[in-house]
Amino acid sequence: MSPEVAAVREDFPVLDRTVDGQPLTYLDNAATTQTPRQVYETFEAFYAGYNANVHRGIHTLSHEASLAYEAAHDRVAEFVGASGGREEMVFTRNTTESINLVAHGLALPEFGPGDAIVTTEMEHHASLVTWQQVAKRTGAELRFVEVTDDGHVDLDHAKSLIDDDVELVSIPHVSNVLGTINPVRAFADLAHDAGAVLLVDGAQSAPTRPVDVEAMGADFFAFSGHKMAGPTGIGGLYGRKELLEGMEPFLYGGEMIQHVTFDRSTWNGLPWKFEAGTPPIAEGIALAAAVDYLDDLGMEWVREHENRLAQYALERLEARDDVETYGPGPGEERTGLVSFNVDGVHGHDLSSILNDRGIAVRAGDHCTQPLHDRMDVPGSVRASFYVYNTTEEVDRLLDAIDDAGAKLDAYLSSDRYSERLYDHHRNPRNGGSLTNPSLVKSSEETSCGDEGEFHVEIAGDGTIERLAFESRSCAVSRAVASLITEYLEGRTVAEAAEMEGEVVSMLDGQFPDLRKECVVGPEDVIREAAREYLDGEVGEAVSTA
Ligand code: PMP
Repeated sequence: MSPEVAAVREDFPVLDRTVDGQPLTYLDNAATTQTPRQVYETFEAFYAGYNANVHRGIHTLSHEASLAYEAAHDRVAEFVGASGGREEMVFTRNTTESINLVAHGLALPEFGPGDAIVTTEMEHHASLVTWQQVAKRTGAELRFVEVTDDGHVDLDHAKSLIDDDVELVSIPHVSNVLGTINPVRAFADLAHDAGAVLLVDGAQSAPTRPVDVEAMGADFFAFSGHKMAGPTGIGGLYGRKELLEGMEPFLYGGEMIQHVTFDRSTWNGLPWKFEAGTPPIAEGIALAAAVDYLDDLGMEWVREHENRLAQYALERLEARDDVETYGPGPGEERTGLVSFNVDGVHGHDLSSILNDRGIAVRAGDHCTQPLHDRMDVPGSVRASFYVYNTTEEVDRLLDAIDDAGAKLDAYLSSDRYSERLYDHHRNPRNGGSLTNPSLVKSSEETSCGDEGEFHVEIAGDGTIERLAFESRSCAVSRAVASLITEYLEGRTVAEAAEMEGEVVSMLDGQFPDLRKECVVGPEDVIREAAREYLDGEVGEAVSTA
């Protein structure tokens, strides 16, 4: 470990903790980073020293809190290169709220049929779902820039999509799955030439590289405190002053007004017009402490450190035959994250195996379901690094992946799971499909994003004669699906529709809390299917397959 990183680690006491006796290896930083003491100590200073509401009281504590909260806006504006200071920096709860602010303040009131919004196939749901709703409500068209097989946005395709109808272009600066750094300046030029504004989702870039919103040509730039060594509950929206001035408020209430009568109200100046009600005062002050912390490390150093770890991880992962990685290949700069899959071991199972070794990663679709569909995988495992991570930790990850299949077997046969589940894992029953099912139900819509399908053959009297299942889900879910098919054979659809906790009791409640979703998921799917069948929605049930 370099002395620099060793010194950084001293600032993060949580890194000294253990998980089930193993040292913590925290590699889930693209979801949320850890918080250094320099940041959380600002909470103590605030609550022990000058906790009060802002902009409301003529007393010393309120004055001190107001000054600190206002200064925090200036500091964070400076961090992202906004020369307009606090007037161009709105504090929100997170990136999601920042994007929604633009949707409500600009797009919903102004866009209509004939307008278009351009975004990309690598959007986080925070952006994708928001623009989808704006398009639905306004009649504007939503266009997606394709992502190439090597994880880049296709600039030529973008050129063909961004025409004079386009009012807004929204892209991530950095993909939270692929680690790709997008050519935001090129998008700014395309957007501006077409008379559109550019929103940059900076959730993954503000924490990891120097950001200059003016140099990149962003009209809006959204980010979250909890991904950049700051606290939860605070995020930011940079907006060009002229744009923010012309926009509708997002939320109404106290603080955001200037003058109120029974008939009408006028709005406060920037940024307060967009910060209705009591804001997250301590969190805002702590966000400024977080950017101070990062600037002390040096954002160039952060960028290099991130890229170094990502390259090392990528190189080691790519050297393995049983691993598939996603995004730009080795040698191309990326932020500190690598998403991958290990052959034959579902991400949820792999993250359980890793958790046993104290390693925290993220498995699933990372709020980018359409991107995973595009990559043709149900999900991926993402290891993401931050300023305190080391190459030794990457080695620990790689060691833990070794023989993942055997480790999975040991994991499922350990006494945390009932023998019954292990038996169904080793000897799955009723795998495959039925030629003439009365009912087919896909599990794609479950919250964990698992992919599976139940086929059920039902007799005229409602007796379930045969069941089968196909699944790309985790081993736990697959074993449970097998168990359910065995359990339901010979029972009635009505009984299936009434299932509530049957699987948990068949397993004697013997499974780790962390995997509860995987255990109850298949039961939820089959119960819903049975209810739909009884309600006469068979056609719909079949069509979800
Ligand atoms: N955009 C990207 C690219 C992200 O990675 C995330 C967080 N995963 C978000 C938006 C949403 O951030 P938040 O949940 O803090 O609003």
